[in-house]
Amino acid sequence: MEAAVAAAGAVFEEGTEAVVEDVMGEGVDPEGGEGQDQQQAVDAVGRVDAAEASSLAGIEVAYGGLWFPAGGWLVPPRLCAALAANPAIEQLSAYRMKSLAAVKDGWLVEAEDSHERRSSFEAQVVAVCTGYQVKSLPPLTNLPLTPVRGQITTLPATRHSDKLQAIVCAGGYVTPPVGGVHMAGATHAFNDEGIDLRTSDHRENLSRIAEISPMLAEALHADALDVNSLSGRASVRASVPGAMPLVGELLPGLYTSLGHGTRGLITAGLSGELSRGSRSRGLSPNILGLKYFV
Ligand SMILES: Cc1cc2nc3c(=O)[nH]c(=O)nc-3n(C[C@H](O)[C@H](O)[C@H](O)COP(=O)(O)OP(=O)(O)OC[C@H]3O[C@@H](n4cnc5c(N)ncnc54)[C@H](O)[C@@H]3O)c2cc1C
Repeated sequence: MEAAVAAAGAVFEEGTEAVVEDVMGEGVDPEGGEGQDQQQAVDAVGRVDAAEASSLAGIEVAYGGLWFPAGGWLVPPRLCAALAANPAIEQLSAYRMKSLAAVKDGWLVEAEDSHERRSSFEAQVVAVCTGYQVKSLPPLTNLPLTPVRGQITTLPATRHSDKLQAIVCAGGYVTPPVGGVHMAGATHAFNDEGIDLRTSDHRENLSRIAEISPMLAEALHADALDVNSLSGRASVRASVPGAMPLVGELLPGLYTSLGHGTRGLITAGLSGELSRGSRSRGLSPNILGLKYFV
């Protein structure tokens, strides 16, 4: 097994520009304008042996691997909140989309609130980004999406685990402490839509840490932790054959951004750019993966 060690990025607090700078590291142009610094950052990804990886991570790891100096991490709800703060966006989060139908000038969305009150919305362009739950949304019920449950475990940092200064990934991952806790994950269970926290998944995450870095497992007192009282989060990914997201214009005016699997934080932004490009610049709409169902 090899490990990937990502440089310490900052967890952002402010707006999206700060987010991009923090996440991508100093000197990387988020617009890609100059391109040179960005290229240098990419070029600098390199192999490290276990000793170098340990020194970069701040704690002994069992394997060598790849070092991503421009790597980082972020907090998805804060990223989403920062993006949605754009004044051009009006959020109607109380509604659940129930159906979608083509009408003369676009699409009609039928939605329901938590009191089962129905409302309808009409738009020329609709983009569906409902994850694996799109399977219950006519006319998109036949998309080849598989639900894949995953659970992360949050682990209280200790004086020794606090030394971890880079994300370490090897099959699973463990982050440096953020707000006094490490995140470790994540499990995979195909065709499982359960979002309950499971002790078996906590155990799996802990055993993966022990494999990546026995020293970190020891620093976290992993053997002595009561898995019944550990916190975490479980949710469901949408997986697609070939792991290519289903992104683009499926029918005139009907866009999808679905099937981001385990890497939505990387592919969602790119998918948005591609969809926007296909619409404004007349690029091929069947950009990524739509071959599966068109
Ligand atoms: C445990 C775990 C760890 C992960 N770790 C990482 C990671 O480290 N890095 C990474 O890049 N990715 C990670 N992922 C994957 C990442 O979470 C997904 O790729 C990403 O969330 C996909 O985004 P999405 O917007 O397509 O779908 P989702 O995040 O599933 O969002 C879909 C949204 O649509 C809403 N919705 C569904 N149906 C309707 C409806 N009918 N009407 C209205 N709203 C609806 C849902 O409530 C939900 O809010 C992880 C996933 C899991 C489960």
